[in-house]
Amino acid sequence: MASHQLSTAVLGFPRIGRRRELKVALEDLWRGKATEESLLATAKGLRERHWKQQQAAGITSIPSNDFSFYDQVLDALVLVGATPTRFGSGPVTLDRYFKMARNSNEQTAMEMTKWFDTNYHYLVPEWTSDLSFQPNTTKALGEFNEAKALGIHTRPVVIGPISLLLLGKSEDGTAPLSLLPQLLAVYTTILNDLHAAGADWIQIDEPHLVTDLEPAFVDAYKSAYETLAKLPVKLMLTTYFGALGDNLELATSLGTAGLHIDLVRAPEQLNDVAAKLAPEQILSLGVIEGRNIWLANLDALQTSLADVIRKLGPERVHLATSCSLLHTPYTTEEEHLLDPRIKSWLSFSQQKLEELAALAQGPDSAKDVFAENRKRNQDRLAAESSTNPAVRKALADLKDESFRRKDEYTARAMVQREELGLPLLPTTTIGSFPQTAEVRSKRAAHKKGHLSDAEYHDYLAKEITDCVRKQEAIGLDVLVHGEFERNDMVEYFGEHLAGFAFTENGWVQSYGSRCVKPPVIYGDVSRPAPMTIKWSSFARSVTDKPMKGMLTGPITILQWSFVRNDIPEKDTAWQIALALRGEVTDLEAAGIRIIQVDEPALREGLPLRRKDWQTYLDWAVKAFRLATTDVENGTQIHTHMCYCEFEDVLPSIAALDADVISMESARSKMEMLDAFKKHGYPNEIGPGVYDIHSPRVPSTAEMKSLLELALKVLRPDQVWVNPDCGLKTRQWPETTEALTNLVTAARDLRPSLQSA
Ligand code: GLN
Ligand code: ZN
Repeated sequence: MASHQLSTAVLGFPRIGRRRELKVALEDLWRGKATEESLLATAKGLRERHWKQQQAAGITSIPSNDFSFYDQVLDALVLVGATPTRFGSGPVTLDRYFKMARNSNEQTAMEMTKWFDTNYHYLVPEWTSDLSFQPNTTKALGEFNEAKALGIHTRPVVIGPISLLLLGKSEDGTAPLSLLPQLLAVYTTILNDLHAAGADWIQIDEPHLVTDLEPAFVDAYKSAYETLAKLPVKLMLTTYFGALGDNLELATSLGTAGLHIDLVRAPEQLNDVAAKLAPEQILSLGVIEGRNIWLANLDALQTSLADVIRKLGPERVHLATSCSLLHTPYTTEEEHLLDPRIKSWLSFSQQKLEELAALAQGPDSAKDVFAENRKRNQDRLAAESSTNPAVRKALADLKDESFRRKDEYTARAMVQREELGLPLLPTTTIGSFPQTAEVRSKRAAHKKGHLSDAEYHDYLAKEITDCVRKQEAIGLDVLVHGEFERNDMVEYFGEHLAGFAFTENGWVQSYGSRCVKPPVIYGDVSRPAPMTIKWSSFARSVTDKPMKGMLTGPITILQWSFVRNDIPEKDTAWQIALALRGEVTDLEAAGIRIIQVDEPALREGLPLRRKDWQTYLDWAVKAFRLATTDVENGTQIHTHMCYCEFEDVLPSIAALDADVISMESARSKMEMLDAFKKHGYPNEIGPGVYDIHSPRVPSTAEMKSLLELALKVLRPDQVWVNPDCGLKTRQWPETTEALTNLVTAARDLRPSLQSA
């Protein structure tokens, strides 16, 4: 690499704070325990710290306007004056800002949805014809000037107009593109104002350039940037989370001063993009992973970049994080309990800044950093945990039969009907029962060592027995143990599997003040000992009713963890599946003849591009089948999903070949039935009839009418009766009442079906 030092850029920095200071400040304000002033002061302190941290690391382009009190998409709506009018008009106060973000007694908040394929959730813009579009640069300029006062020249970040339009949905039939002219006028003002305040570069995020675009949006990109790229301020057009693919020509021809591409997700696009670049256009290479926590391989990066740097010249190449660091935790320095060896393989935001800076300096100037990085990567590769020969052999030995039940559903159903002896419209729940404050405090006390194993065991035994008695009294047909021993449906399994590690402070923002701490899958996954047999068997032993075993599926465990990047994700999924397969057969051997394997995250894993869906769905479905097919015909496999948009993936859902699937449908009034009707679905289905997201108790009549809708489309012997999802966030009184109504609804409808 040339001795010339390259420029570096960070696309966004996490804002919640190293010790989640922003979370605390927000929640204090919401609870009325603190004032707005104290929140503002905390926020200002965090921004200062984060800017200085990046400056100290030697980053050239430090972002501003990447801070948010709740969500960057909501901020973008404030910036362009397009917040939903149902919350009022005029200047957006902090109070109104939070009303849009959070449900209150007076009003339902804006809808939230996942940010591309991450676990971050943004607020969905509501496009209506009455939006006024008024630029409001208070925040963007405020942050720019705040940094400037600290002597830090920043590159403001804004979401680009086309992605902003695509992120939202029309509420009144207004075509989002019809809003583009007004939006462009506002963007013009905003970009000019930032330029006037001293910003020479602006980062304009257009992540939709890595997605399938309709022709009208391709045209919209052209016309929008025709205007924006001409403005005096230089635009760094950023794309991330995938390859430009068929939008490559489009992205390179928009006339922006710079283009950023994600080389972690799509390293193969480098040469094509470089070849298409306009003369003098700067290429920003997203080489430091913003989505995962593994240390970079500096030597490999150095080698892979040498060519493009030579071709374009060092002035035209910037090195950057692949996307915003929003999706990675703060610093590994806060990890005191983690195995030091595993810790040495990790890189959180702070470490990523250092990697980026070292890479830009090159191996001659940053000799020590390169050497240390090399040593750590070699150690990770050589670690015994990275390759478990028994697991590798088991994967290599899989046969077609490993993915198939003994017989087809129809044959299995006959055996199951006979052996399980369930009535028509069998009633059950999704697994968890109320996690009361007591349950949580006992679990926490046990974890801290304040409650002995024996005491905790006795407590759980009592809770489970109570829960079983309550279900018996309600009259449910298939019971569950209640999941009281589980803090989280992924964490619980990770704690019992080899190959998983847990951080103390590896928090990432999920939405607003909510953060999650995903487990880290660092090695080959295996199951040293049974994970759920003890409590499932115990629950079974205290009742004559059928007891359902509860497991979290391989794809959900994968999706909600930080996954290792040294083997394909599919392999990790299948390793988890193999471990679960052992658990499933152990449950069966323990006499548990109904086993539910939850896959709420199956759909979340869908790639951003349609053309990539089938490959993913194929290995994901096989992972589920690997986990669930090694059982007798009489053992009934259930699965559960927390959504009902099935239309586009229904063949894959059917290919899971679960005997029974339960899903959310109460809120959408069984809308998903249309898809089932259209495509046909052979196995059994439990469309949720009880919306568990609020304490409201649905009446028997209400649930009966939902079931009647289902029975119009499905065979009577196909329908199960259950809530939308687990009941852990509910309280006992409303739960008992609602489930009693649910059982009554099923009982009321049975006679008419039997005679039919
Ligand atoms: N079995 C889990 C529960 O009942 C399922 C949760 C989920 O679908 N997210 O809590
Ligand atoms: Zn669910």
